[in-house]
This record gives sequence, structure tokens and C-alpha cells, in this order.
Amino acid sequence: MNLDLSKVINGLQNQLEFSFDYQISDAYLKSIKGVDASVFKIVGEVRRIDDRYDLTLSYSGNMVFECDRCLSKVTLDVENSVERLLVDSEEDQDEIPLKSTILDLVPILEEDITLNLPVQILCHPTCKGICPNCGADLNKETCTCSESKIDPRLEALKNLFT
Ligand SMILES: [Zn+2]
Ligand SMILES: [Zn+2]
Repeated sequence: MNLDLSKVINGLQNQLEFSFDYQISDAYLKSIKGVDASVFKIVGEVRRIDDRYDLTLSYSGNMVFECDRCLSKVTLDVENSVERLLVDSEEDQDEIPLKSTILDLVPILEEDITLNLPVQILCHPTCKGICPNCGADLNKETCTCSESKIDPRLEALKNLFT
């Protein structure tokens, strides 16, 4: 997803609008533990302001994750708008150093998606998860694991009578 900024940088244009359909890469998806992603819609523009360039980029799509507790599939709407200054040398974190006339938007997109992901991804706020003992999905069924666990002292007593 490369943006050719040569016309803006050479002063032939004051602004450049762009739009892309972008498929999130598998490598990135894996790094954030996603299992699937739609094609993302990316729109934005670069505007020249004196000797700096103002980048705005909006993205939207959805991504599929596994619930942190029960592993069922959870689809999240993923969208945000990003604003960055493109400068000759980076001074603070909102600025991006412009090393050539080509700007790759992928790292900007991926960084922003990562920053905005929820800390915990759940299918439902009250998801009960999976029983660590028998693997039952406790949202759909109740297992008897906790009930059948007999106190070892009682177990010894029970054996006395058999
Ligand atoms: Zn769940
Ligand atoms: Zn169980």
C-alpha cells in the first residue's frame, strides 16, 4: 500500500487523496492472534502545509478473533482515523520521518490497529469459558466436575464402607 508523494513533494500538487482496498497480511494477523480479516477500506489524504505534510487516514473493516475464555469466534468492527505529520526527521511520536517520496501506509495502519485492540476479547462480557477439567463449554452446558470432586478426607471415609 505505497503512496507516491513525489507530486506533492515537488510542489506540483498541494494535496493527494487516496483510497485502497487492503487485505491484512497473514503474518500481521497472526502476530495479534487474529484468525481472519475482511478486506479493509482505507481512505485519506496528504496535504502540504509549508514544508510539512499532514497525513489523514481512515480505515474500516472487521477482524475475527477467538474469545479469550471459550475460544468461540468473535468478530470485531475495526475502524479508526489516524492523523500524522510527515517530516524530514522524526521529533515526536505523532510524526513520521519521510525517507523517500514513497510512503508505505501498512506500518501506520498496523500500528494503529494494534494500539486500539481491546485488552481482552470476549464473545460476551459474562462468558463463562471452558471447564479446565472436562473441556465443556460452560456457556452451553453445565458440567459436574466441581460437584463430583470429593474432599479427599471424605473419599477415605467412603472407602471404609465399601
Ligand atoms: Zn467466550
Ligand atoms: Zn467440567
